[in-house]
Amino acid sequence: MTEPLGLPGTDVPHHPPLAELASRLERAQRAARAHEVDALLITPGPDLRYLTGYDAVALERLTCLVVPASGAPWIVVPRLESPAANASPIGSLGVEVREWSETDDPYSLVGSLLAERGRVALDNHMWAEKVLRLRAAMPHVDQMLAGPVLRELRLCKTDAEIMALTRAGAAIDRVHARVHEWLRPGRTELEVGKDIAEAIIAEGHVRVDFVIVASGPNGASPHHELSDRVIEVGDPVVVDIGGTMPDGYCSDETRMYSVGQPPAQFLEYYAVLLAAQEAACRHVAPGVTAESVDQAARWIIDEAGFGEYFIHRTGHGIGLETHEEPYIVRGNTEELRPGMAFSIEPGIYLPGRHGARIEDILVCGSQTGERLNHRPRELIIL
Ligand code: ZN
Ligand code: ZN
Repeated sequence: MTEPLGLPGTDVPHHPPLAELASRLERAQRAARAHEVDALLITPGPDLRYLTGYDAVALERLTCLVVPASGAPWIVVPRLESPAANASPIGSLGVEVREWSETDDPYSLVGSLLAERGRVALDNHMWAEKVLRLRAAMPHVDQMLAGPVLRELRLCKTDAEIMALTRAGAAIDRVHARVHEWLRPGRTELEVGKDIAEAIIAEGHVRVDFVIVASGPNGASPHHELSDRVIEVGDPVVVDIGGTMPDGYCSDETRMYSVGQPPAQFLEYYAVLLAAQEAACRHVAPGVTAESVDQAARWIIDEAGFGEYFIHRTGHGIGLETHEEPYIVRGNTEELRPGMAFSIEPGIYLPGRHGARIEDILVCGSQTGERLNHRPRELIIL
C-alpha cells in the first residue's frame, strides 16, 4: 500500500470529486434509457449519496431527486432543507433545487412534472408511505425498483471508491491495533465495546455501525449483541467492528483474540478457519463466480469436519452500505469483475462453547483480489 493515508479524519473528503459525481449521474441516465425507464426517483439514502454526494436526512417531508432519462436532473426539497442541499455537491452539480413550503403538496409537484411519463424507478430504500403517495400522484405511471438500474454502477467500484474503501480499511485496522488496550479479564463485553466504539470515531469514522465483542460461549452467535458478561481467562473473543467514514464508505473487519490460552479444541478449528479464509481470498479473480469463492472456503471447513458449524455465507459486498451486492454465497453465479468489493468472512461456531470468524474486505483487481485490511490474522493471545 503506497497511498498516503495521513492522520485519522484529517485528509478524508466528505464526498467524491465533482467530476466523478457528474459522471455517475450521466451513467445513471444511460442506464435508465437502457432499462426503458423515464425517470429515476431517489429519496435520501445510499443511492442519493452515490449519485450526488448529498447525505440528506430521511424525514417525513419529501426530498426526492428526479433523474430523467435525458435532460437535467432536479431535486424537490422542503424549504428548510434547501440550505443543506445547496451546501452539498448538489449545489455545484447543476442539479436544480425546487423548494416546497409547508403547505405545498410535494408529491403532486413531482407527479405533475412527470405526468406524461410512462415508467419511473424508485430507489430500493424508499419509505412505503412515499411510494404510495407518489403512486397516488401519478396513477398512470408504472413504478419499478431502481435497484436493477443502478446496480451496474454501484457493483463495480471506481478508483475513487476503491481509495475510499482503502481509507476505511486502514481506519478500522488502526482500531484493531488498539484492542489489546481494552480487552482484559474482569471487564464486561459492554465496557470493552464502549472503548472500541470511541476508538472507531477517534480513528477517522464519523459513525459507529456495529461493535461485536463476543466472548467465550457468546462467540458461537455470529451477530451477538454486547452483553454484561465478564470476560474470563481462557476466553476466545470475536471482535467484529465497522463504521462509516466522512465520505460515506464503510469499514468491516473481524479479528480473533484470546484472553490467555484458549481451549485446545478452539485452536484446532482456528487453524482450519485461517486456511479457509486464506484459500477464499486467493481464489478471488475476475471471471470466477461469487459462489466459487464461498466454496473455496467451505470445502476446507467441510473436509476438516466442521462444515455444520459454518452457518452463514462467506461474504457480502460493501461500499456506501455495509451489506450490498455482490453476495458471496452458494447459488450466486455472478462472475467477479475488477472493482467489485466484498468481505471474506468464514466462521466456525460451536454452540454453547465458542466460535471464531476472520474477516477482510477485498477488492477484485485485474488479476487477483487485494485485501484492504492488513492486521495479522493469526489468533492474538493477550
Ligand atoms: Zn463484520
Ligand atoms: Zn461483514
